[in-house]
Amino acid sequence: MLVRVDLNVPMHDGLVTDTTRIERTLPTIRDLQAKGAQVIVLSHFGRPRGQRKLEMSLQPVAVALQTSLGQKVTFGADCIGADAVAAIASADNGEVVVLENLRFHAGEEANDGTFAQAIADLADAYVNDAFSCAHRAHASTEAITCLLPAAAGRLMQTELEALSGALGNPERPVAAVVGGAKISTKMDVLGNLVSKVDQLIIGGGMANTFLFASGIDVGKSLSETDMADQAHDIMANAAAEGCEIILPVDAKVAQTFEAGARSQAVSVDSVPTDSMILDLGPVSINDLVQRLGRCRTVVWNGPLGAFEISPFDAGTNAVACETARLTQEGFLLSVAGGGDTVAALANAGAVDHFSYVSTAGGAFLEWLEGKTLPGVAALES
Ligand code: AMP
Repeated sequence: MLVRVDLNVPMHDGLVTDTTRIERTLPTIRDLQAKGAQVIVLSHFGRPRGQRKLEMSLQPVAVALQTSLGQKVTFGADCIGADAVAAIASADNGEVVVLENLRFHAGEEANDGTFAQAIADLADAYVNDAFSCAHRAHASTEAITCLLPAAAGRLMQTELEALSGALGNPERPVAAVVGGAKISTKMDVLGNLVSKVDQLIIGGGMANTFLFASGIDVGKSLSETDMADQAHDIMANAAAEGCEIILPVDAKVAQTFEAGARSQAVSVDSVPTDSMILDLGPVSINDLVQRLGRCRTVVWNGPLGAFEISPFDAGTNAVACETARLTQEGFLLSVAGGGDTVAALANAGAVDHFSYVSTAGGAFLEWLEGKTLPGVAALES
């Protein structure tokens, strides 16, 4: 059984530094093992662009998988051909084999049929458990589904169920919390969300652009003044769709962007010209906390302030903790993911208390943009 997972984990000096993605592959691997299958694990790692690059070998990741699994894992020095066949032949049914980085072959990213056939020849069936790679039409996520019986793995299933619960047919009112640095990177996300949610809560640097577009002087704040027209379009579309856009009414400002910088809370219409907005102010935080209490579903992407630097993590922390509390008490379905979101929620101590936190970056954002994900569409068809 071929199982496409995402083992593109953080590494330092040849050692895996965060095993979250590895742990998340275990339910599918164990399920298949329990049914007697030999589990042949496929993944990419980094961007070797069709070249065999030692520093992008999956061998150290196979060792980390062996530790997490608590069982022997056999490593195959190639994902196709004689090396792959030999590794598979040396393992029994019920055992796990990890094959070398798919992207050592240019055919992977080219969605090449011949390369897909070479992988398909190794097994009788295929499971895709890599939602985080589903936004790419690659040989191991797309072409292969035409060549073998194909199914979704447990992680893919969990992820799709969480996402469809949040935006497919959600319990209302549904709010989206969108933060982060710039609106230019999230135009499609905002454009899609205004047609799906009842309230669009905008924070972080991108809120500054909306404030600027509304005629507010944001001083030295990070803002994209050339995106003011786009911000106006989003506000007009939101009004037409009946989606309420919620912007900060007050902010934590400082003259410098550094830890322990002297800061003060001011109304957004009195930001000093020599200062920058780095977080929500207390009135905005309190307003968001009240609003969350009236919602049934929350989708979250991006921090609401410069959360890496205390005290500018206060807004993100307060709103994340309240979302977590309401979720744990059964009032709220909460789904988060993309970019810095996981780090921001972890910093708030809330990451384990949301209904679902996706480790998929690009795929989660493309889903928020309302796009069809080729890896999911291939399984459906
Ligand atoms: P993104 O990758 O677009 O989600 O942006 C995340 C980054 O936005 C984080 O590094 C935050 O520090 C940064 N950020 C959030 N709010 C602000 C702000 N008001 N001013 C400057 N940077 C911010």
